[in-house]
Amino acid sequence: MRCSPSALKNEAQRLYQRLNKLGWTLDDCELIAPTTLEIKQLKTEQHAVILAHSYQTPDIMYGVGDFIGDSYSLSVTATTHPAQKIIFCSDYFMGETAKLLNPDKEVLVPRVAGCSLADSITGEQVRAPRKKYPHAGIVCYVNSYAEVKAESDASCTSSNVVEVVEAMPQQEIVFIPDKLMGLNLRTMTSKKIIIWDGICVVHEGFGEETVRDIRRRFPGVKILAHPECAPGVVALVDYAGGTSGMLNYVRASAAAIFMLVTECGLTDRFKAEFPDKQIVGTCILCPYMKKIQLVDVLQALRNPAPEQYIKIPDDIADRAQASLQRMFELEQEGKTLVKRGAGEAVS
Ligand code: SF4
Repeated sequence: MRCSPSALKNEAQRLYQRLNKLGWTLDDCELIAPTTLEIKQLKTEQHAVILAHSYQTPDIMYGVGDFIGDSYSLSVTATTHPAQKIIFCSDYFMGETAKLLNPDKEVLVPRVAGCSLADSITGEQVRAPRKKYPHAGIVCYVNSYAEVKAESDASCTSSNVVEVVEAMPQQEIVFIPDKLMGLNLRTMTSKKIIIWDGICVVHEGFGEETVRDIRRRFPGVKILAHPECAPGVVALVDYAGGTSGMLNYVRASAAAIFMLVTECGLTDRFKAEFPDKQIVGTCILCPYMKKIQLVDVLQALRNPAPEQYIKIPDDIADRAQASLQRMFELEQEGKTLVKRGAGEAVS
């Protein structure tokens, strides 16, 4: 695409205003401006919307993303957006959730990437605990493929997992696929939790010593962790919850220093969105999410390959949608059973 020098200059300035808080220079922005301009033009021509998961790189989140968030909230956002085409910068299973909630829209992912957690279980494998624990209910974390949701009684997100599990009619719950979140649930709910052996390679990577070290070095720091972290880590932090819960916590807090025990993209997002707060400590990159680059977004708009389109067989889609629908119902019932204090503060 040919762009006029003035259009490129304006685009580089727009990018710089959004990205300089994260250390990007004007030269960096000039380099990506031709690509972001072409993406914006193709998106407009095709009436598409670009959803960017919070673990994407800043050039995707702030350069071309129309909405930034976690996979579930973005999928819900898309249901009320007029665009008929969704480019979801995320893993394939997240694109599937968007397709389940937007069955009449075209959903594409810029790159077909895996995930250590979602890849730990297939739909077929869910049948084994179903047989072994016939009296148990099966709850599946939304970070799973549609075929796994289809075999589960209900889905859940990191924000509503406690309410969903509490509202399940069974006392025994098989929680799939996240082992560490399942272990955390044992202390957060009254149910007997049977776990699966899946892990998120990002959140598994944080140890208790990292949290203790940050507390020693930064007096007054508030530490926030994702519930996909190990219980020993979660027990040491000030708040455990998903992306929206973390955002709300920081927004409402008078503290000046925070550490996020999660993926680096979210750390970037907090640095950009809370310029008055200091974000300290380390983060871990997701090797799957970071496979997606700007050029992949451009390619998905220019010349998408068949595998980039999310396709879910009808029988799986119907049952996976039922599992998500059950989540909505249980979340509402669970709210009356679970009285949360100020968010989900752990200590
Ligand atoms: S951070 Fe990466 S590995 Fe962990 S659940 Fe998300 S996509 Fe999977």
